[in-house]
Amino acid sequence: MPSATGDAGSVIVSEIRRFVDKEVLPVATELEHRDEYPAALIQQMREMGLFAMTIGPAYGGLGLPFTTYAAVIEELGRGWMTLAGILNTHVIVSYILEQFGTKEQKKRWLPVMVEGEKRCAFCLTEPDAGSDVAAIKTYAVRDGDLYRLNGNKMFVSNGRRAHFYLVLCKTDREAQPPHRGMSALIVEKGTKGLVIHRDLEKLGYKGVDTVALSFDDAPVPVTNLVGDREGDGFKQVMSGLEVGRINVAARAVGLARAAFEDAIAYSFQRRAFGKPIFEHQAVHMRLADMYTRIEAARLLTRQAAEKKDRGERADLEAGVAKLFASEMCQETTLDALRVFGGYGYIKEMRAERYYRDAPMSLIGEGTSDIQKVVIARALERLYKKE
Ligand SMILES: Cc1cc2nc3c(=O)[nH]c(=O)nc-3n(C[C@H](O)[C@H](O)[C@H](O)COP(=O)(O)OP(=O)(O)OC[C@H]3O[C@@H](n4cnc5c(N)ncnc54)[C@H](O)[C@@H]3O)c2cc1C
Repeated sequence: MPSATGDAGSVIVSEIRRFVDKEVLPVATELEHRDEYPAALIQQMREMGLFAMTIGPAYGGLGLPFTTYAAVIEELGRGWMTLAGILNTHVIVSYILEQFGTKEQKKRWLPVMVEGEKRCAFCLTEPDAGSDVAAIKTYAVRDGDLYRLNGNKMFVSNGRRAHFYLVLCKTDREAQPPHRGMSALIVEKGTKGLVIHRDLEKLGYKGVDTVALSFDDAPVPVTNLVGDREGDGFKQVMSGLEVGRINVAARAVGLARAAFEDAIAYSFQRRAFGKPIFEHQAVHMRLADMYTRIEAARLLTRQAAEKKDRGERADLEAGVAKLFASEMCQETTLDALRVFGGYGYIKEMRAERYYRDAPMSLIGEGTSDIQKVVIARALERLYKKE
């Protein structure tokens, strides 16, 4: 099942495919069961330039298109979805800075981010506000050359190991509609008042740290406001979320592909009623459905990435891709379990890991319900006559 990408990207995609086969698959299940941070794999990903992939050459990055990024993420997702997640928040934050940051901000942070040693976290969700981003309570008040930042953030992926946190907050708590009063601040690790409270234990998506944290009068230099004016934060993070949704769609394609590939291989070996189970129509029809859905999801993901590469708004395409791919992934990993019968349910088989990892794609970067809301709003824009 080849994953298509342009010539420029095909070398890196082949390199990642080899990396996944040789380095990731032999260790992923064990690391996952131990919920262990994959430090050695991350080091190799840094050396391959993956943290620099989407950052422009002006800042030392590779400047590769999102179509290549999606193909790389698919490969990583095939190996271990967690690796795609560790890259995701870094790419979202560096993308937002490159698109919306001031000249000084880009010069200051992007060359550091290219190295991948210092990585980024993306803080939107709060204990009482996830889907409803406009309901966030975290706020920043100007105090001379500083903002004083207060509030709680929840489910922060890469939150313990990040060096840079992009934090969505309110700089005007009275603004109506509320999103007009939101800004994005870069908070650096070690900032006084930034407290990481706890690591959250999860069903799947293990190995990557997901934390609850808070800001208690944290002093953030005014020069860390992304862009040159307050009130643009909502627009900036929504654009970043399109990149995040391409990541989640691509990793769902990769994860589903891994489940499919394991299932079809097993179906040729396992025998029941005197023949390989693949020969039973119910099994091969199931595999045909799995394959077809994966192919469709990849094309939708590629379509969204192409739109983003053209510099166009891609909320509709990214929403469609993320919705379809994540629901497809959930179904496909369950179908793989069915093909494996009882063996799919035990921990020695990768199928159980795939099945526990899949639901994360239904939630991260907005639930499936929220993708439908995003899609419907875009359809209204496109089809409603004044
Ligand atoms: C492992 C993990 C990692 C994460 N990483 C990050 C991260 O790095 N940064 C970050 O900011 N967030 C992160 N998140 C948070 C994630 O984005 C949110 O969990 C998600 O957006 C849903 O928000 P919620 O959990 O508050 O659910 P809620 O918003 O409370 O939703 C609960 C239910 O109500 C439904 N619902 C809500 N509103 C509507 C509506 N208008 N129409 C229809 N249905 C609706 C939802 O679909 C859902 O089914 C992570 C979450 C997890 C589990």
